[in-house]
Amino acid sequence: MLIVGSDPVEVERMLVSGELSCPSCRGVLVPWGNARWRSSRAAAGSVRHRPRRARCGSCGATHVLLAQVWLLRRADAVAVIGAALEAKAAGVGHRPIAAVLGRPVSTVRGWLRRFAARAEQVRGHFTRLLHALDPLAPALIPRGSVFADAVEAVGAAAAAAVLRLSPCQPWPFASRVSGGRLLWPAGAGEVSNTS
Ligand SMILES: [Zn+2]
Repeated sequence: MLIVGSDPVEVERMLVSGELSCPSCRGVLVPWGNARWRSSRAAAGSVRHRPRRARCGSCGATHVLLAQVWLLRRADAVAVIGAALEAKAAGVGHRPIAAVLGRPVSTVRGWLRRFAARAEQVRGHFTRLLHALDPLAPALIPRGSVFADAVEAVGAAAAAAVLRLSPCQPWPFASRVSGGRLLWPAGAGEVSNTS
């Protein structure tokens, strides 16, 4: 799995011109058909999409190219999940969050628990990323919980990325930077460096 940009035309151009590299060995990826169709849920409703697949010319591994608006093994768009995380960080409970987002309570609770289990790791990674992108960025002010600090760090790093790199939305940025693993089980894969 490789998290790529949201513009399929640009992703195709990069794939065909050999600009995408293998997340396992950094070899050059070449087009390798398509992954299966998926049904995912964006803020506005259901989306059917079929991610591109690529094969590494060096190690032979195949990788699904998942757009950064999604997360690994999550049906909901990262912006929707991010909205839940921001609300939780602001002190809102999982039931009202679920009601506002129109998602099952159990689903929202699952996102919040998973993020809470990874919060310290996410906070540390995105804080380091923030200071790498902007060495003059002031230290983040503690928000009263590691959960809220982690959400704050994601937003601050994304804001720094907008200034230093290119326009991006905070949660798709977080998906890209984490290799889609923002809600991955703690310890089952590090939050990887951006590339
Ligand atoms: Zn490879």
